[in-house]
Amino acid sequence: MFCCFSGNLTCRRQQEGMARSIIYITGSELLSLKRRPNIAIVDVRDDERSYDGHIAGSLHFASDTFLDKIPTLIQAANGKDTLVFYCALSQVRGPKCARTLAEYLAESKDDVGIKNIMILQRGFNGWEASGRPVCRCTEVFCKGHTEPA
Ligand SMILES: [Zn+2]
Repeated sequence: MFCCFSGNLTCRRQQEGMARSIIYITGSELLSLKRRPNIAIVDVRDDERSYDGHIAGSLHFASDTFLDKIPTLIQAANGKDTLVFYCALSQVRGPKCARTLAEYLAESKDDVGIKNIMILQRGFNGWEASGRPVCRCTEVFCKGHTEPA
């Protein structure tokens, strides 16, 4: 169904083989991945972001408008090869948006350089419950805390 979004996209299915697989990572794995410059963290919660805070450095793409915003996400993630999705628990919205993106990329003939799609286990709630850093800025594209050099 995604192939007719843009006149530039040709309907092609499965010619490139398997769609990207989606893997789950833990909070501590994300903490070490976060040090790399080629990772983007995507928060797909809806209103909760505005009152619960978010993972520092995450981009906000609410799940209810996610599909329409995929081109914006791809632009925002330019130069990143790994995207990590999370929602409150990473049980419904996070996996759904990750799959939506994987399907979109599988249908697209452009290689946008996204190689890995991941989901943060236990989502934001698990992250916060483990005492990991939470940012409360109001930026849609959070710049995150300054990491020690
Ligand atoms: Zn922030």
